[in-house]
Amino acid sequence: LPTFLNVEKDFGRTAIIDFEKSLKYEDLFRESEIVARKIQNLCGCKSFDENERVLFQSVNDRRYTVITWAIWMLGGVCVPISKSCSNSDLEYFVQDVEPSIIFESSLLPFQLDYDTAVEVDIKEGNFINHSKTDVKYQNKPAMIVYTSGTTDRPKGVVLTHGNLCSQMSGMIQSWGWTNQDRILHTLPLHHVHGIVNVLMTSLQVGALCYMLPQFDAKQVWRCLTEPLPQLGGEHINVFMGVPTMYAKLIQYYNKHITDTQTRDHIKHVCQSKIRLMVSGSAALPEPVMTRWEEITGHRLLERYGMTEIGMALSNPLHGPRIPGSVGLPFPNVEVCIVKKQEERSEKGYEVIVQGDSSHTTVTPECDNMIGELYVRGPNVFSEYWNKPHATHKSFTTDGYFKTGDSVVFGDEVYKIVGRTSVDIIKSGGYKIGALEIERHILSHPNITDCAVVGVPDEIWGQKVATVLVVADQGKMSVDEIKDFCKDKMSPYQIPKVVLCVEVMPRNAMGKVNKKELVKDLFS
Ligand code: ATP
Ligand code: MG
Repeated sequence: LPTFLNVEKDFGRTAIIDFEKSLKYEDLFRESEIVARKIQNLCGCKSFDENERVLFQSVNDRRYTVITWAIWMLGGVCVPISKSCSNSDLEYFVQDVEPSIIFESSLLPFQLDYDTAVEVDIKEGNFINHSKTDVKYQNKPAMIVYTSGTTDRPKGVVLTHGNLCSQMSGMIQSWGWTNQDRILHTLPLHHVHGIVNVLMTSLQVGALCYMLPQFDAKQVWRCLTEPLPQLGGEHINVFMGVPTMYAKLIQYYNKHITDTQTRDHIKHVCQSKIRLMVSGSAALPEPVMTRWEEITGHRLLERYGMTEIGMALSNPLHGPRIPGSVGLPFPNVEVCIVKKQEERSEKGYEVIVQGDSSHTTVTPECDNMIGELYVRGPNVFSEYWNKPHATHKSFTTDGYFKTGDSVVFGDEVYKIVGRTSVDIIKSGGYKIGALEIERHILSHPNITDCAVVGVPDEIWGQKVATVLVVADQGKMSVDEIKDFCKDKMSPYQIPKVVLCVEVMPRNAMGKVNKKELVKDLFS
């Protein structure tokens, strides 16, 4: 069941701490009801029509949940948009999703005034027309979440309540979530990582979510290492972030946390109080994983997911977490790796590897072959909003979603090679994975950020180029990079073009739009 329908079991427990204030589950539910009533009064209707959409700009505090639950209580579909999106982006989202209401979430009072609000009996609170066991509820669209816009303009992904429940239950089972967990939330709330993996899942299990208004390395270090006074001195015990967050935390640590005693204390607290630290949304560079383990004693758990499917593959909670790998499928998620178009012998798709959380079958003679990842299961979205053609193109007739990511199965785990469209560089007959080259380059002690791209070349079709951020605004030449890469990679992988920039352009999820990068820097 969606959380808000099943929330009574958690009454009495703390749901959210934000701005240093705590909110119990019953308060969260009650505030949502008050907002739902206000919407009813404002709109003069009892509930939303089927698929009616409410767009709002997300705020990283309790009001986010209050708004989403209120919209769901009235049967509407939530459309969370970045709080810092530009006017032209906002215009794009509004025109695309055609919401019946646009909610300015920051205008919602932070503390709702219970005294003047209509008293609502929580038990009679389900004033929309559904029963708690109505299975049909699961097929109702719950949210339209826009993709990160890394390869093109963001696409609206329609997720049903059932999709969200399935995504959450996969994570709850795989990562051992319980209502004793206390997670630190610092992610944007307009992408699934922040919405589903952290906020919704913690509330689904009755755990506690400690919300910071945004990511700030100093604040995050404080929250990870100091006790929470609102919880009788308990500590945060789960943290999830994108690789750039871990990289920024490491930079802050290297620069500002220098005395041995504090460093020992940090390691001790992280090891003894925190049970899980997760990385995802983009490839985790191995040097970040290694350094994080040195500092905190925690081996990051890397997982792979998308807006369209939630989480699909994960390294294990218990067991080896292999750098550069994303482990195995979540429960209920079926995956296969299919041959690339040009390598197929017939129409349709040819499977190289097929598997789920407990079994993997590799087609003989296809060992270590790279192909595209397809995913099927109750976690997979129903459609792209307003894009029937894109939806049609993205699914096989038997219901697999084509992720557009290239992967390989080896050493009993899946490895993400990169996006088929931009991370596979075709140069003189070779197919070169950009992420692998990035991994090698990032092991250079003076290189703090890196993106490898293919740029047009008259002779080779494409040539490998790298955009670098060098420590202390330094520069590097092609020869220096070549020398460094010589022992680590094959000649055809070594970048032929090197460009140094001060800051790598990354979006809200810390990802580089490589098409834009090539357009801006190489054309
Ligand atoms: P758009 O679809 O608008 O171009 P996007 O694909 O970045 O943007 P998301 O749905 O937020 O939008 O991101 C999903 C993508 O993130 C995946 O397709 C994959 O390329 C990448 N990704 C997620 N986790 C990992 C990981 N652990 N390693 C490598 N790539 C990852
Ligand atoms: Mg995508």
